Amino acid sequence: MPLTDRLPSPSPGSINAKITHFACIRCGWEAPVDDHLEGCARCRSEGHAASMRPVYSGLSFNPKDATDFSDWLAYPDHPRLGQGNTPVVELPRLAAALGVSTLSVKIEGANPTGSHKDRMSALAVARALDIGAQTVVAASSGNAGASIAAYCGAVGLKCVIVTTSKMNPNWRRAIEFHGARLEYAPSVQARWHLVEERTRKGEWYPVTNFCMPAVGSNPFGVDGYRTVSFEIYRQCNPLPTDILVPTSRGDLLWGLARGFADLEAAGCIDHSPKLHAIEPFPRITRVLEGSDYRDSFPGESAMTSLGGSTVCFQALKALDLSGGTALPVEQSDVKDDQRLLARNGLYLELSCAAALTGLRKAARNEVVKADARVMLIGTSHGYKEIPEVMQ
Ligand SMILES: [Zn+2]
Repeated sequence: MPLTDRLPSPSPGSINAKITHFACIRCGWEAPVDDHLEGCARCRSEGHAASMRPVYSGLSFNPKDATDFSDWLAYPDHPRLGQGNTPVVELPRLAAALGVSTLSVKIEGANPTGSHKDRMSALAVARALDIGAQTVVAASSGNAGASIAAYCGAVGLKCVIVTTSKMNPNWRRAIEFHGARLEYAPSVQARWHLVEERTRKGEWYPVTNFCMPAVGSNPFGVDGYRTVSFEIYRQCNPLPTDILVPTSRGDLLWGLARGFADLEAAGCIDHSPKLHAIEPFPRITRVLEGSDYRDSFPGESAMTSLGGSTVCFQALKALDLSGGTALPVEQSDVKDDQRLLARNGLYLELSCAAALTGLRKAARNEVVKADARVMLIGTSHGYKEIPEVMQ
């Protein structure tokens, strides 16, 4: 018998009593606490797609005094593998070279599975335990799959990661070592169909989107990204003026926006830093130029963690709330910047190095000003990449 089968199952934690209900981030429709995996039912009935979010009442303490932010999360008692409290590293030479006041990187690669996804996985898995789910599923090209597999392994939940044959073997190996099962589908859309089918049968509990038009990932999981903002608030005085976020469908971007909104509501800050979405080809950029967010925006890129042809409403809302914008970057420039960051001590995943390329463009266009205090979200480290794909 495998060792994991002899371990006792952990008892699920209780949901945070400060969550009073859920609300649509687009139309404001309010609904009871639930998973809302397909987003707002009212928006969907009108042909739109928008995430629901948990609404808290009475988040009163100052996070500068807290050792962690558990009381501000949906499941204060969630699985812990050491996620969060990641360092912020200053890059003064690059700040001078790019012509901004300060430049720092939030090192999310310091999370246990090497990416920011651990913050989402911990909360989504806590939710799965609470509702008695048997099997957690995610459609993933890498980081999310490895992370969710790790947290399911930690609590003894079954896990399926639906991916394509293109998934890099380093991620495949980690996912299988964590005890998860890999299933392959021919395309991103085919992955979503499979997840949808098994979710509707009640067999799988999903952490990632399966809808078209797309919505954000599991709202309990996405809510866990608010901790990045809380930590930035505690670590940076003064706060950054501009934060550049490598973005696909905008889970992290939205979590950051919500975290800063909570800090503002609690009287901790006057306003949010500007959040800028960095993308591998124009998607959000095209919506900001007038396209419908429900359109398809196909594109190819070696920045696998930022792939996909869809735009989620949550990304647009995050930019709107914070006053930021979207910046597409050229892959050849990103490869140069990945090497430049490494020469400055930080070996980051290509998808993550895109943030520096985005800054270069933003500084040139004066989207980011010369007196800006800039932070890049270093979503993941580069050690998982395989050279033959990247060169
Ligand atoms: Zn709605």
